[in-house]
Amino acid sequence: MSEKPKLAMYWAASCGGCEISVLNIHEHILTVDSIFDIAFFPCIADFKVHHVENYPDGYIDVCLWNGAIRNSESEHMAHLLRQKSKVLVAYGSCAYEGCIPALSNLTSKAATFNTVYGENHSLDNPNQVVPLTSVDVAEGTLTLPEFYHTVQSLDQVVDVDYYLPGCPPEPPQIWAVLQVVVAGLLEGAPLPPKGSIVGVTNTAVCEECDRVKSEKAIERFYRPYEITPDPEVCLLDQGLVCMGLATRGGCGALCPQVNMGCRGCYGPMPGVEDQGAKMLSAIASVIGAGEPGMEDAELEEKIGAVVDTIVDPAGTFYRFSMAHSLLRRAKVNGNGKG
Ligand code: SF4
Repeated sequence: MSEKPKLAMYWAASCGGCEISVLNIHEHILTVDSIFDIAFFPCIADFKVHHVENYPDGYIDVCLWNGAIRNSESEHMAHLLRQKSKVLVAYGSCAYEGCIPALSNLTSKAATFNTVYGENHSLDNPNQVVPLTSVDVAEGTLTLPEFYHTVQSLDQVVDVDYYLPGCPPEPPQIWAVLQVVVAGLLEGAPLPPKGSIVGVTNTAVCEECDRVKSEKAIERFYRPYEITPDPEVCLLDQGLVCMGLATRGGCGALCPQVNMGCRGCYGPMPGVEDQGAKMLSAIASVIGAGEPGMEDAELEEKIGAVVDTIVDPAGTFYRFSMAHSLLRRAKVNGNGKG
């Protein structure tokens, strides 16, 4: 009897939701278990890195990698799992585009450490101790991975075969993708072309959203807690920032279904390089300020007043895509690997 294909899943800089999303395929997880041998999955089984190091190159058939590259450990593991895997999937938004961890690219390593270990009100750290890569104690030398200045997506570090976006990816898409991979591995069915973004549509989230859309002329933006939106009407029409215009579909417009604007986690539309810039452009075209014949200075002031109602534009428009955007990071006087 031939051996089962080998499956791995690894968790780098991410929240852990991607691992849970795999379990959200419910009873299909039993099918996954019957088809694959788990070769590395630290979240659910006691594997060590040296087990992977001892595998022959290409031993793992499919590796689902979730998480961004935040430190020297995640970078090392990305190279190791690339070497040991036939198919490497950037699974979830952190691996695909950097996601929430990459919002720290708007600041420096030093400022991040200061926020987390210095000024954090839930912390008792009077000596302002921060993690060091090496510390000598009585028992020997303790080491930690080096924390990098800049968060990177997986494909900024190693070659990636497929991308499965989402924060986290939605179960129907996960299962569909696993079925395609399994058909390719077991039955020789063609796999999607390398570099494919899988489990998505080629249209915007707006196309999957049933809300009534009309011509937009937004006079102020609201945060979700400030208004109770009409459940039938486009959220953006009501002044709630919704990234559906600039985001690739595939999720089924789940967030707008529950009165929450699309956050943008499925990434940019096909052909769009910078999702944040695309959304900024869309927002600029729907601002309703000024009147015909108004002087430029007054018009500028009125438009500025509408724009000022958008809280945290960088964090809103680049919430998931900062590492993969044209910006990649803010220029700051930081330190560490840049
Ligand atoms: Fe598009 Fe959002 Fe409006 Fe739905 S609510 S149509 S996703 S902008």
